[in-house]
Amino acid sequence: MQRTIFEPEHEQFRDSVRKFMLAEVAPNVDRWREAGMVDREVYLKAGEQGLLCVFADEKYGGAGIDDLRFDQIIVEENMRHGDIGFYINLHNDLVAPYIHKLGNEEQKARFMPGIVSGETILAVAMTEPSTGSDLAGMKTRAVDKGDHWLLNGAKTYISNGILGDLIVVAARTDPDRPHGISLFLVERGMEGFERGRKLDKMGLKSQDTAELFFNDVKIPKANLLGEAGQGFKSLARMLAQERLIAAIGFMATAQTAFDLTLDYVKERRAFGKPIGSFQNTRFKMAQMRAELDMAQTYVDQCVMLLNDNALSPEDASAAKLLSSELEGRVMDQCVQFHGGAGYMEEYRISRMYTDARISRIFAGTSEIMLEIIGRSLGLDERKLQ
Ligand SMILES: Cc1cc2nc3c(=O)[nH]c(=O)nc-3n(C[C@H](O)[C@H](O)[C@H](O)COP(=O)(O)OP(=O)(O)OC[C@H]3O[C@@H](n4cnc5c(N)ncnc54)[C@H](O)[C@@H]3O)c2cc1C
Repeated sequence: MQRTIFEPEHEQFRDSVRKFMLAEVAPNVDRWREAGMVDREVYLKAGEQGLLCVFADEKYGGAGIDDLRFDQIIVEENMRHGDIGFYINLHNDLVAPYIHKLGNEEQKARFMPGIVSGETILAVAMTEPSTGSDLAGMKTRAVDKGDHWLLNGAKTYISNGILGDLIVVAARTDPDRPHGISLFLVERGMEGFERGRKLDKMGLKSQDTAELFFNDVKIPKANLLGEAGQGFKSLARMLAQERLIAAIGFMATAQTAFDLTLDYVKERRAFGKPIGSFQNTRFKMAQMRAELDMAQTYVDQCVMLLNDNALSPEDASAAKLLSSELEGRVMDQCVQFHGGAGYMEEYRISRMYTDARISRIFAGTSEIMLEIIGRSLGLDERKLQ
């Protein structure tokens, strides 16, 4: 179905992003998967090309463009022609906005130029060994020591955990309040900040995911992000965009899997004819086409709502829920249509299948998305007693 949200300037931008992904990212995919992480240089190259934080102020090297469609295009082209493990989306749309929106002028002046040029790679650390969905159970603590904060604790499953130079870390600062959490800017090289294992994963092989440890890390007062004790409010402010960006990526990978499977079923023959000519194949491909178009339209509409500051948390949760669940079904069906080839690493669909399994888990699990949507209907066990 024709998409209606893009203007000619977006299409031009898409062409240039596609060229970048084909030239600078795609040729490296196999090597990066082997290494378990992407090269740092790809962030610098993306920065040179103007693909990092288009929303950033011009004085920091950005383009000052407040239009999520540009970010959407970068994510879509990276998923289709680049590498899912190149977390340009995490850098641009999940972490940089914390600094852009919550940072004070001094913090922005200190960090944004490196973030926009690609010298400073970003990560965000919320999840801990004992808590993920239930962030109120967080144990990492920061204690106010007068002229600095003292940070202690451990985080796990952190994307860009090895490559990251600047990490937004959530820590409990008020032990008496479950939501008494603050955000800190932890920099590479701070004494007591250590990285643990680069974790072995089912998929996303070129994305480095790691454990982080904080042992008596002295965090300068100037590195508190936003107000002390208001971390939950800050997180909530960012989550709608985070979930929408995730949904954009899931739609792009599902669309890509569909397209490459459509080519495959036209070529592959069984019983003397292309497998695409069997009614079962035709119907299932048609069903996927219809579902993809419908979900894409919803996600595109959410992008326009976000641009108007009108995207609700439940709309964003619905986008994340439906796109990730659809992506999972599409990947499974596309592997099926590839037969044995679909199970072979050398076929892209096989890698896409394992890469996609995380989509229903991170950025909030499907169950948490359902909770958020359910509560917005007034179906809240605390209120319905
Ligand atoms: C590859 C990868 C990258 C990641 N990157 C990052 C990152 O960069 N930064 C970061 O902070 N974290 C990151 N995470 C962590 C991720 O966000 C969490 O794994 C996720 O939020 C789920 O938390 P959990 O693993 O603790 O699962 P749990 O919270 O233990 O959930 C286990 C199961 O219980 C269900 N459940 C939990 N609560 C409820 C409830 N109230 N009702 C119904 N069901 C419920 C869940 O839906 C799930 O099915 C990453 C994880 C992975 C695997």
